[in-house]
Amino acid sequence: MTDEIDRANERMQEMLGDALREQARRAGLTGKSPADSAQWCQREGCEAEIPLARRTAVPGCQLCVNCQTQKEKGVRQ
Ligand SMILES: [Zn+2]
Repeated sequence: MTDEIDRANERMQEMLGDALREQARRAGLTGKSPADSAQWCQREGCEAEIPLARRTAVPGCQLCVNCQTQKEKGVRQ
């Protein structure tokens, strides 16, 4: 039982390691790190907090998911 938990923890650590390497790779590609991401959406009038998961997944992001989606669709308000 304990062994199983240990193995599960090991797999988790491996996955985390992979995720961190992937992040570092992306940061190297974009020249940006999660620390460059904005905590709050930078679009005027939108004060949504950008979740940590998004800030980490999209280094340097400045908009919340909603605003980013609208921007990519070219929707004007
Ligand atoms: Zn927003």
